[in-house]
Parts: sequence; structure tokens; C-alpha cells
Amino acid sequence: MGNSPKPQKMIRPFRLAEMILAKMGEGEIVFRFTRLPGRVYGYSLCDEIMIDHTRGDIFDTFVHEMLHHLKPHWNHVQVRAQTKYFISRSSWDTKQRILCALGNLEARTNSLGSLESYAREMNKGTKRTE
Ligand SMILES: [Zn+2]
Repeated sequence: MGNSPKPQKMIRPFRLAEMILAKMGEGEIVFRFTRLPGRVYGYSLCDEIMIDHTRGDIFDTFVHEMLHHLKPHWNHVQVRAQTKYFISRSSWDTKQRILCALGNLEARTNSLGSLESYAREMNKGTKRTE
């Protein structure tokens, strides 16, 4: 008993893949692949996602940041749990669809200026997630 939190209701891998692909298809998110400072592998801010392609697991980081966009009210713990669930439970077919879409992104890589704008946005208190 006690006050343990209610277990998180996980989104099924196939359904989450559909959500991610639909979101990518809207074309509203700008993706940037760049080195990021500190221990941060990815950032989400408004309609931008930045991913450090030089460290960590890019697929994990991508799913993680997309979840922040899809579920803006979720906290990091929930996002991490769902990402882990997705990666461990999704079929190769499902992963392949995500990886193909990721590979075909028109990503921007000239993001130094963007890092500065990130810092400005952070100072303004704009919603940002890592
Ligand atoms: Zn996060």
C-alpha cells in the first residue's frame, strides 16, 4: 500500500510509431544535429529538436525528444520510461520505419547561432526540455 505512484500507462510501440511519424509528417519541427554542451544529448524547444549525434544513442535521444513534443505535460521520468518501453518492445519493422524517416529528414546542421537563441529563450523562461 502506501503512497506509491500509479503505474504509468504505456503507449503501445506501434501506436507511438504512428504518432511520431505523423508528427514528423506535419513538417513543423526543425531538427538540428550538433554537439551539445554538458551532459545533454538532446533539446526540445517550441518547434525545434536538437540532437547531439556525437554521443549517446541517437535513436533513444530522438524518441525521447519526440515524446516531449507529443506529450508536453509528461515529466522526464515518464518520457524515459516510455522511451525504454518503446525501444525494448517495438518490432524491427516499427524501428525501421522510424529510422528511415529519421534518415530522410531535412536536418539543419549549422546550429551554433541556434544554441545562442536557445540560451536566450531559456532566459526568457520559454518551455524547454532536455
Ligand atoms: Zn527529457
